Amino acid sequence: MINIQSLEKLIHILATNESSDVVIPSAFEELGSQYGIGGIQLDFTVGGNFFLKSGMRKHAFLYRSKLPMEEACGFEKHFTTGENGNVVFQIFADCNKKSFSDEEKKDLDVLIDLIFIHCGRWRLINLVKYMGLNDSLTGLPNSGGILTYMDGLLANGELTDYNAYYFNLSRFSLVNKKFGSRETDQIIVRYCNILKAFLTGKELLGRLGGDNFVALIQKERTEEFLKLLAGVEVEGMLAGRNVPVMISAVAGVSEIDEHIKASGQVLDDCSTALNIAKHVEKKPYMFVSPELRKKSFKQKQIVSSFTKAIGNREFSVYYQPKVHTENYSIVGAEALARWIQDGNVISPAEFIPVIEQTDMVCALDFYVLEQVCMDIRDWLKRGIQPIKVSVNFSRKHLSNPNLAKDIMNVLDKYSTESKYIEVELTETVDEVESDLLVHFMEELKGYNVSMSIDDFGTGYSSLNMLRSFPVDVLKIDKSFIDNLEENDKIVLSNIINMATELQMEVVAEGVETVQQLEYLRENNCRVVQGFLFDKPLPKEQFEDKIHRGSYSEELAGIKR
Ligand code: C2E
Ligand code: MG
Ligand code: MG
Repeated sequence: MINIQSLEKLIHILATNESSDVVIPSAFEELGSQYGIGGIQLDFTVGGNFFLKSGMRKHAFLYRSKLPMEEACGFEKHFTTGENGNVVFQIFADCNKKSFSDEEKKDLDVLIDLIFIHCGRWRLINLVKYMGLNDSLTGLPNSGGILTYMDGLLANGELTDYNAYYFNLSRFSLVNKKFGSRETDQIIVRYCNILKAFLTGKELLGRLGGDNFVALIQKERTEEFLKLLAGVEVEGMLAGRNVPVMISAVAGVSEIDEHIKASGQVLDDCSTALNIAKHVEKKPYMFVSPELRKKSFKQKQIVSSFTKAIGNREFSVYYQPKVHTENYSIVGAEALARWIQDGNVISPAEFIPVIEQTDMVCALDFYVLEQVCMDIRDWLKRGIQPIKVSVNFSRKHLSNPNLAKDIMNVLDKYSTESKYIEVELTETVDEVESDLLVHFMEELKGYNVSMSIDDFGTGYSSLNMLRSFPVDVLKIDKSFIDNLEENDKIVLSNIINMATELQMEVVAEGVETVQQLEYLRENNCRVVQGFLFDKPLPKEQFEDKIHRGSYSEELAGIKR
């Protein structure tokens, strides 16, 4: 008969403790010697499941007495766990006991049930702890796990040996769209395996979720790791075939120093640097620096004061003339926003990339459109013949299915004829946007409003755009005109020819020199815009230019 007092003691120890490793030996101290138990062995196997992608196997002794144990197992019991795991307990008699009687085996049966319940609880607790600190897809530490790990290094004074990286995969939505979410998950796992293979010592790779990751890499390995982030090839399965996928990342990097007091601060700094690298500077990585912190502070100020600034009408519209290359007449203008703050003019290069990360840019674009319509109405009233004005619209608008109608409502409100307005949009970054863009362009065409593609040649689908979009005007990006090296010339003249044959007008942006102007004219580019003629001008100065109608006097001296 089992000793009730010893049993109660065992149940009490198991019930009041969570960790099996420490508890089971002490819980079995009395009953183990009463039954002559030499050892209790656990064999646990579970296949891969949602929580544990790679499955789990544990093979260990939960209890060993001081005496040597018999080789043959004296009692064995099997269980199946909720997730189809197999659990086998084997009890070995000690060398004095040799074997168990049938009566004893009945008692051991009850004792094993108790251990099984205890182990189940222990496993659940560990799983919850694991899930709290690890990402379920990759098994990498999640934000909680990363911070816990960093706190450990910080406490030991080791964190300063590392650079912290917060990185985001570039154009990953395209991978998702091409491969579907299930295969994309596998691509992420393969990508992580490549990065994991790079780690040494106490370096860390963690996943914050989606395509956002954190790494801690020894400072002397910065260059190598940045190279890895710049691009690695991963395999993806598409229609039963393996195809290579190039995965690159944009990173914010913090060179952790002794001023750092909290791990969270490191990640906040890195995230700021990443944000600026990705959305403002368009660079593959940026290091945290005092200037960057200042920049980020300024950005936050821009975002927080923007809505009020719109309400206070702090924005002005400047006009930059578009000029015909044959007779230098002004054939159009581009409306460009300026923020006038306490008498200072802030250029859009400073605030557009910041507000473009929010929907605020949409409010600005409509503000500019309204102002342009008001100016056109004013010119007509004063007998000044208006010219076509192009207005920039951010791609952020494309998610608005009523964009074309909203634009027309503004034109109607000021009785502006559609021939006076052109809409400028930059090239799209992905296919989803391309679909939205086609829809918008077709609607706009229905309203007789012309449409230009801004910064042509720098985007994702330049050639595709030529082929399949009802575009009226291509604005060739300034970068093609800047140096006019041999390759630029080849690309430029061919773009102009293709566009002309497709009956699109070409406007070259950023013309600063007579040589550029001449080259463009000789290559059949009919319209240019640039500082050679004028910078964007306030309304009154621009009116003087339309009055004069052309730049032929200024450029009379140049050879034709
Ligand atoms: P963008 O639409 O490509 O406009 C042309 C930019 O190039 C203007 O800069 C113009 O001043 C500049 N530029 C023109 N000719 C020359 C030249 O010969 N040399 C040089 N170095 N630059 C030249 P700006 O006005 O600073 O605008 C910068 C960008 O900000 C614009 O590029 C446009 O993307 C954006 N932006 C400006 N206003 C608005 C707006 O109302 N809405 C939106 N969504 N974006 C705007
Ligand atoms: Mg533009
Ligand atoms: Mg442009």
